[in-house]
Amino acid sequence: MTITPANTQKKTDLLAFTLPQLQQWLVECDEAPFRAKQIYSWLYQHLATDFSAMTNLPQALRQRLAEEATIGLVIVRSELHSKDDRTRKILLELADGKLIESVLMLYPPLGENSPRATVCVSTQAGCAFGCTFCATGQMGFDRHLSASEIVAQVLFFARELRAVPWTAAGLPRSAPIDHITNIVLMGMGEPLHNYDNVLQALRILNSADGFNLGARHMTVSTVGLVPAIRKLSQEPLQVNLAISLHAPTDELRSQTMPVNRKYPLQELLSACQDYIAATKRQVTFEYVLLAGVNDTAEYAHRLGELLAPLKQYAHVNCIPVNATSASYKAPGPKAIRAFRDILFEHGVSNSVRAERGDDIAAACGQLRTRFEKKRA
Ligand code: SF4
Repeated sequence: MTITPANTQKKTDLLAFTLPQLQQWLVECDEAPFRAKQIYSWLYQHLATDFSAMTNLPQALRQRLAEEATIGLVIVRSELHSKDDRTRKILLELADGKLIESVLMLYPPLGENSPRATVCVSTQAGCAFGCTFCATGQMGFDRHLSASEIVAQVLFFARELRAVPWTAAGLPRSAPIDHITNIVLMGMGEPLHNYDNVLQALRILNSADGFNLGARHMTVSTVGLVPAIRKLSQEPLQVNLAISLHAPTDELRSQTMPVNRKYPLQELLSACQDYIAATKRQVTFEYVLLAGVNDTAEYAHRLGELLAPLKQYAHVNCIPVNATSASYKAPGPKAIRAFRDILFEHGVSNSVRAERGDDIAAACGQLRTRFEKKRA
């Protein structure tokens, strides 16, 4: 397994380590390995940003950690909150100057559902896959993020919510939310293209001795890298899988998603079938609705026919395209309803997700593009 080294900087970044790796590192530093659990608790339960806060460690060890280690290597360059404060977006600068974005989405309680705080995480600086509807796709690929750079995005918002818990405006009696409940790997980059670092980050966040976020609260979203989907199905960590589908025919999909030429729909669906057979888990198919492009009745039938063989294991998430997209428009509510009804006719469960944060350019890559223009 290739893990991007944590100590490419002068200091060792502790957010890159699983607990056993941290124990090992302490042994190599001639320190007691049992200190690892204490440090892990400070990093992920107390959300410490400074070694001086780790008061159950000997002063000498705190001093040494301050000199030789670090807790994440990212700087927040910009933070925007949507008017309703349900969407917050940050622009982070990495140690080498690369810029990435992360988004916090806050959901008030709904019926029996508890409130949620979901972080949308980036896994690469830029992206190699060039989807035409995506601002990140137009930037090209810079590099993979390390596990610690992925973890640091989640910790940033975790600290923010811990400091100031969120209550939805207009719902003063609902319980405030003070912790991250979900993460989705749907930010900049293709997570399965950065497989090892992504899995490392998920293991770190899943650790019961640390952040303790359940695997079922983590969603990996992919454009459909077939071999990696099969590999993911064999992982002990049973995260949710989402496929960015967006078109039900190869002809249409290849127009907006060049990856489809390498892994066409039948290959992709076959990998999903294998994934379902191995995990017995539902797969979500993301479908960004582009008015006049992929939202017609004919495409709805084609989508229904494509996914019907997966039966109850397929769920379509219809996403009207973000209003800030320059080239595409979202269909109106009637057209969305009609599209969904056809999917139901084919026995395919589906829901619609309202795009959020239009007023802060929440679609992936937009904030970085603006910032870079301004900086230029
Ligand atoms: S949609 Fe995802 S895979 Fe496609 S270009 Fe954007 S970041 Fe890359």
